[in-house]
Amino acid sequence: MTQQDIEGIKQLLATPKQIVIVPHKNPDGDAMGSTLGLYHYLKKSNHIVTVIAPNEYPDFLKWIPGEQTVLKHDSQTSDCNLLIQNAEVIFTLDFNALHRTGNMEHVLAQSKAIKIMIDHHQEPDGYATYTFSDVTMSSTCEMVYHFINMLGDTYKIDSNIATCLYVGIMTDTGSFRFSCTTSNTHRVAANLIEKGANNSQIHNNIYDANSFERLQLLGCALSNLKVIPESRAAYITLSQEELNKFNYKKGDTEGIVNYGLALDNIIFAAIFIEDKQEGIIKISFRSKGNFSVNEFSRAHFEGGGHTNAAGGKSYLSLKDTVGKFISILPTYKITLNHE
Ligand code: 5GP
Ligand code: MN
Repeated sequence: MTQQDIEGIKQLLATPKQIVIVPHKNPDGDAMGSTLGLYHYLKKSNHIVTVIAPNEYPDFLKWIPGEQTVLKHDSQTSDCNLLIQNAEVIFTLDFNALHRTGNMEHVLAQSKAIKIMIDHHQEPDGYATYTFSDVTMSSTCEMVYHFINMLGDTYKIDSNIATCLYVGIMTDTGSFRFSCTTSNTHRVAANLIEKGANNSQIHNNIYDANSFERLQLLGCALSNLKVIPESRAAYITLSQEELNKFNYKKGDTEGIVNYGLALDNIIFAAIFIEDKQEGIIKISFRSKGNFSVNEFSRAHFEGGGHTNAAGGKSYLSLKDTVGKFISILPTYKITLNHE
């Protein structure tokens, strides 16, 4: 983002605008925290603002300030499309390719609005008028903090904005333990706490509101954990039957993939989750060090993300998807053993 871009955006936002803010499909803590943080900030500057999520998000995010105003494109399609068509400015947050919004891709691509991307994933597409992309950032929430700062408005950050932004920084850094966490991340988090984010309460709301069944599902996932020591890899599977048995709800599998990395000497972890309704196996990859799961997922599982955290999918059965994964691993054995 150049100084010229910043001046352009300042000028654009100097008068009230019709604004839509969009996170990626299956929004996570960073997607909802960043869109809602930006929502509160823009509302304070008298814009007419709507957050439109492609679809539903997990219950553990349903307390974030302003979340009850979020529209969902999959269930409120015509209202959402109208808002997008009439928008003067569209912010796209926590993704960098329009297909990541699922069925919203077309209406977003058609829109004549000025588009502003704020995102920390690798290899951004070129759809936006203004692209604020930084892969060294822990989270899009951290970037929204810097965005507000660049516009000279840090003083406008109140406890609502601070709470929203703290959520995404906390969730995308695994509570400040992943390597994407920098000293600057901590500085931003400290500033947010000073501005009213209740760090302990936020952590509690996100991580300590499990249902009994969710913990049982975690137990099932851990008993399915397999290790491939020669490739320093571990993986977990969850079949649709297992998900049903524990009354699976959106978000219940969030974070489970990380348990693979908790094993000594394991630096590459995967989880394969069967989704009969979508007809896919949803995959999450995590790594430690320089092994790029973004590249791995792009090459083999139609996905992408970051060096140490990426998603992907497969149209094969659960068993065949795991079979494919295991058959690919030897190609990476040397790389994984030199990490
Ligand atoms: P998760 O495994 O938690 O779904 O995703 C890990 C990271 O990869 C997140 O930052 C997410 O936004 C990104 N991601 C997940 N799925 C995809 C995908 O299909 N394509 C791309 N480019 N990124 C993804
Ligand atoms: Mn993110």
